[in-house]
Formats: sequence, C-alpha cells, structure tokens
Amino acid sequence: MSAFGACRMLRAVAGRGWRPRSSKPAPSAHAKRPGAGFSFELTDEQKEFQATARKFAVEEVIPVAAQYDKTGEYPLPLIKRAWELGLMNSHIPESCGGLGLGTFESCLITEELAYGCTGVQTAIEGNSLGEMPVIIAGNEQQQKKYLGRMIEEPLMCAYCVTEPGAGSDVAGIKTKAEKKGDEYVINGQKMWITNGGKANWYFLLARTDPDPKAPAGKAFTGFIVEANSPGIQVGRKEMNMGQRCSDTRGIVFEDVRVPKENVLLGEGAGFKIAMGAFDKTRPPVAAGAVGLAKRALDEATKYALERKTFGKPIVEHQAVSFMLAEMAMKVELARMAYQRAAWEVDAGRRNTYYASIAKAFAGDVANQVATDAVQIFGGNGFNTEYPVEKLMRDAKIYQIYEGTAQIQRMIIAREHIGKYKA
Ligand SMILES: Cc1cc2nc3c(=O)[nH]c(=O)nc-3n(C[C@H](O)[C@H](O)[C@H](O)COP(=O)(O)OP(=O)(O)OC[C@H]3O[C@@H](n4cnc5c(N)ncnc54)[C@H](O)[C@@H]3O)c2cc1C
Repeated sequence: MSAFGACRMLRAVAGRGWRPRSSKPAPSAHAKRPGAGFSFELTDEQKEFQATARKFAVEEVIPVAAQYDKTGEYPLPLIKRAWELGLMNSHIPESCGGLGLGTFESCLITEELAYGCTGVQTAIEGNSLGEMPVIIAGNEQQQKKYLGRMIEEPLMCAYCVTEPGAGSDVAGIKTKAEKKGDEYVINGQKMWITNGGKANWYFLLARTDPDPKAPAGKAFTGFIVEANSPGIQVGRKEMNMGQRCSDTRGIVFEDVRVPKENVLLGEGAGFKIAMGAFDKTRPPVAAGAVGLAKRALDEATKYALERKTFGKPIVEHQAVSFMLAEMAMKVELARMAYQRAAWEVDAGRRNTYYASIAKAFAGDVANQVATDAVQIFGGNGFNTEYPVEKLMRDAKIYQIYEGTAQIQRMIIAREHIGKYKA
C-alpha cells in the first residue's frame, strides 16, 4: 500500500476543505467561523474523524477486546487496520506523508479508540509518544527517514526514558552515551517501555555529561536508535494488571553504536525534548482515560436499566441514579479538560499547566468511574464475563504512566504558584 493509501480513510475527509494545523501555531478551527470565537461545536471534519474511530472501536475492537485481554497477545491485526484507516500516526506532518492533524483531532480519535479497548489504544499511543520528540525536535532528514517510514508501513516505535531505578525522577536516569568519533556508544537499561518488543526504532534519552552536577537541561541527549542495532536485548513481555495486550518490556543497551546524525537538536538538549513531548502527548493520554470512563458509564447505565431489584430496575433507586449522575459529571468535565489542553497547544501556546490538569483529572476520573461501574454491576461486576472488571484494571495505569498523579500535581502546583510569584 502506498504512503498515501495508508491514510486514505481520514485523508478523504481531510481533503474536503480541512487544513492541517499541528506543526505550526494556528488559530483554532472555530476561530475561522464568524461569531464562533468560543464554541463546543466540532467541525464536520472533526465529527467525521470521530465517527470513523468510533465505528472501528465498536465494530472491530470491542468484539475481540476481552480475548486479547485474556491472552495478552499483541493486537497486530487491529493495529494494521487502524493504520489503514489513518487512525494511527495522525499527527505526522504532511511533509512526511502524514495527515498533520492537530492534538485536538488526535484526542478525539484517541477517546474513541480507548472506548473500544485501552490496551489497543495504548499500543497506538505508544507510537505517538515515540514519534513526538522527532516531530518537535527532528530535522528534515530525521523526520523524513523515521516518520516517513511509519506512513509507508504499519510500524511501531517507542519512547525509552524510564529505567529500573528512575521513573518520576527523570534526571536520575543512568543510561549513558559516550561520543567516539562520529558515533555515540550507548550503555544502560530501560524499563516499562510500551511497544518495547515491537518497535522499529526508539527515541532514547541518555546522559552525555558525566558531571553529576551538570543541570538536567544540559546533561542529557535525545537519540533515535534503530531497534535492530547490535547490542540491544529486549526483555520479556511484562504481565501487567491491565491493558494486557499492550507490549511493555525492559530493554538493555550494551555498547550500542548510534551515528551522530541521530542526535535530536544537539548534545544536551534531550531533557527538554523528552519533557516537551508530554505537552502534546498528555492530552491524548487524558482522552484515553475519558474514553474508558465513558465506556464504563455506558455499560453501567445499560445494566442499571435492565437489572431489577425490589420490583424495579436498579436505575430507579436514587442511590444508583445519583451514582450515574456523578459518573456523567466526571466524564463531561474530564473531556473538557483534555479538549482545553489540546486546544491550547494547537493554538501555539504553552499548555503544560492544562496538560497536567487534564492528565491528572482524567486519570482519577477513569479510576473512579470504572470502580463505580463495577459497583453498579454488583457481583457480576467482579466477574470476567462482564466488561467492567477489565475497565477497572485497565484504568489504573492512567494514574501512573506519562507522569504519575502525584507528579502532575507537582507540575500544576509549580505552574499555578509561579503565576503568583511572577
Ligand atoms: C504499562 C506501563 C507502560 C509504560 N510505558 C512507558 C514508556 O513507553 N516509556 C517510558 O519511558 N516509560 C514508560 N512507563 C514508565 C512510567 O512512566 C513510570 O512507571 C512512571 O513515570 C512512574 O515511575 P516509577 O515507576 O519509577 O515510579 P517512582 O518514580 O518510583 O514513583 C513511586 C511512587 O512515588 C511517587 N513519587 C515519586 N516522586 C515523588 C515526589 N517527588 N513527590 C510525590 N510523590 C512522588 C509516585 O507518584 C509513585 O506513586 C510505563 C509504565 C507502565 C507501568
């Protein structure tokens, strides 16, 4: 299939007048419409992206999600199909053959994919996370080579930052890269890498300044590493609590040689690149959490309408209907949070504050709403024959990866208090 064929579904939609706006600061789509400076209305194109993703999730993902959860098998057929439909890598710039969608549009797609199965969605989102440093910091040659190939074939990539000894404390990573001639030699160990065993290439963060006193903003460098480089040993697939079909692994790098052409921006720029990527990837993670919460709300509501106790459907017991009301409030507000965070970054503004609010809030909401859904299902909720126990297990990771719930609060507090000090 040609590079353009890969995205034919969404490209057909984009071809009807919508202009991409991901890579450069641009006004929101709404601002172009008279009298619509602030609007909750999606454009026709956005509705079509959403509908395409929703159809795929409902018709192709949901029927097989429980089986993938049970076996932990990597959902390759679904990933290939998502790629064909243009539901993957949607933010890759047009200059590399991609759709160049904004973060906002990517989030709409992500919410729908997550509604189907967050294991599948995380595998897909792992690509966005791996690609984002190359999108924000790659030169033309690096972008064409590494992003271009993602459009030509349904390939995966990964973001290798966390290590066995350092997750939240990114500046504590120990993997080092030493310059030898025109190459860097990388030694170290990464952990919990999504798509670790499936990736074609990695974004990798390593320490290049051995001075322990060097500031984080200068001590680390970001590299693009071919996954088939000699010296890379990929660990076993980890068996996680939830999102079990997503591929999570440790990876050892032993004397792995990387050409200097694969350094992003320049030596010492890695920390800012690795952290900067989160401004564009945390809104989609929040959108994933919202998709899960919406699924839990839908499942619980349908069940509450059917299940009878004391002679009436449980939805008619006020305690249950109020629970549903609380769940609905949380889903709506978490959606607004990710949309705001995405809208800000698409408008070219620094969105760190909003991205962390969205990620922290939606992560908590996913856990609360999934737990309430299990409660509404009663004993059935605790059983694998019903869909909500999977949702509860799958939800937990949203409070952990891409910055824990606590780290998000540290960022929000820093950004908030900073405004008062300025
Ligand atoms: C399924 C899965 C997929 C992942 N995918 C990737 C990936 O693709 N790429 C990648 O690089 N990483 C990935 N990660 C790693 C993930 O980002 C880290 O696990 C996460 O950042 C937390 O780091 P940690 O596990 O080392 O926990 P720690 O940093 O050890 O934290 C332990 C606990 O202490 C709290 N804590 C830590 N520091 C503070 C503080 N200063 N104040 C208050 N509380 C604090 C944390 O919130 C947490 O509750 C993944 C993890 C999982 C489980």
